[in-house]
Amino acid sequence: MQCIDSGWISSEGPFVTEFERGFSHYVGTEYGVAVCSGTAALETALYAIGIRKGDEIIMPSFTIISCAIAALRLGAKPVLVDIDPETWNIDVNGVESKISKKTRAIMPVHIYGHPVDMDPLFDLSSQYDLKIVEDAAEAHGAEYFSKSKDRWIKCGNMSDAACFSFYANKIITTGEGGMVLSNDPIVAGRAASYRDLCFKPTKRFYHTELCYNFRMSNLQAAVGVAQLERIEEFVAIKRRLGQYYREKLQGIPHVRFQVEKPYAKSVHWMYAIELDEECEISAETMIGLLKERHIGARPFFVGLHAQPVFARMGLFKGESYLNTDRAYERGLYLPSGLALTTEQIDTVCSSLQEIIEGP
Ligand SMILES: *Cc1c(COP(=O)(O)O)cnc(C)c1O
Repeated sequence: MQCIDSGWISSEGPFVTEFERGFSHYVGTEYGVAVCSGTAALETALYAIGIRKGDEIIMPSFTIISCAIAALRLGAKPVLVDIDPETWNIDVNGVESKISKKTRAIMPVHIYGHPVDMDPLFDLSSQYDLKIVEDAAEAHGAEYFSKSKDRWIKCGNMSDAACFSFYANKIITTGEGGMVLSNDPIVAGRAASYRDLCFKPTKRFYHTELCYNFRMSNLQAAVGVAQLERIEEFVAIKRRLGQYYREKLQGIPHVRFQVEKPYAKSVHWMYAIELDEECEISAETMIGLLKERHIGARPFFVGLHAQPVFARMGLFKGESYLNTDRAYERGLYLPSGLALTTEQIDTVCSSLQEIIEGP
C-alpha cells in the first residue's frame, strides 16, 4: 500500500533496492540484482559472468527449459549431464567427462529444494578454471554442508552468480520476479547493466551492447519486501510438511522420495515422489487417479534432451539420459503449498496407498 500511495510503481523507487539488500542479506551475498523472472535471472547471470557465443555450459538434463534458454540466447551451448537417481540433482560424477576446451561454466540446479553436492563442483571449477552459476530458483533457505569449507552455506551463496525465482509457487513470491546474487562487484554491475538495456552511466541512450529490459518493478519489490519478513516462517513450514510427508509415505509400497543427504538441509519446495519400477501405475496415470479424488499432483520435468524444440535445432542428437527419462516417467509431485494441513496430507497419503494397493 505504501508503494501504491507513493505513486512509484515502475522500477524506479526504493523497494527494489530494499528487496535486493534484504534478500542478498538473507542468503549471505554482497550483491543482489532484481529482475523480472527467474528465467531472466539465469540469462542475466550467464551474461554477467562473461558467457559469450560458442561457450559451453554444463547443466543437468533434468531441469526447466529456462536453463537451456539462458545459454542459447547468449549463443552458448547447453551440455547435459544425467541426474543422480536418489536426489534427482545433477550427477556430479558425470560432469568431468563433459568438460571440453569450450566449457566456461557449470550450472547446478538445486532440484525441489534439495542442494546439489557442491564440493566436487568446487574442485572441478578450480581445476579447470570454470565458473559456477547456481540455479537456486527452488531452494530459498536451503543449506549445504561443504566439507572443503567446513561449514553450512545457503544455496545461492556458493557460486560466481546465483539465480532465484519469485514466481507465485516459489518459497517467497513477487508474482513474477527473480534475482541474481553474487559476491563479485563486477558480476553484479554487469547484471545490473544487462537488465536495464545496458545504458551507459556516463552517456545515456548510447549503447555498446545488446541487452534487454528485465527490470523488476517497485510494486513487485514491495511485495517481495513484505514476503521477506516471513521467509523464515515459510521455510520452517516447508521443512515441517516435508518431514510429515516422509513419515506418512514411509510405509507405502513402491513409493520412493527424494533422499535428504547428510550434507543437505532441503526446503522441500515441492514434495516429490517416484513410483518404483515394480509399480504398474505410471506417474501420468497416478496424477489422473489423484485428480479424480480432487488431489492436484504435477508431473516432473521432461528432459531437455527430449524437447522437440531442441531436436528441431539439432541439439542433443542421439544423446540419452536414462535416469532423467525414468524420473519423468515415474515421478510426480504432491500438493506442497504453505497452507496445506496435516489432515490434507493424511488424505493425500491414504489416497496414494489405496490406489497403489487396490481396494
Ligand atoms: C521456476 C524456475 C525457474 C524459472 O523461474 P521463472 O521465474 O518462472 O522464470 C528456473 N529454474 C528453476 C529450477 C525453476 O524451478
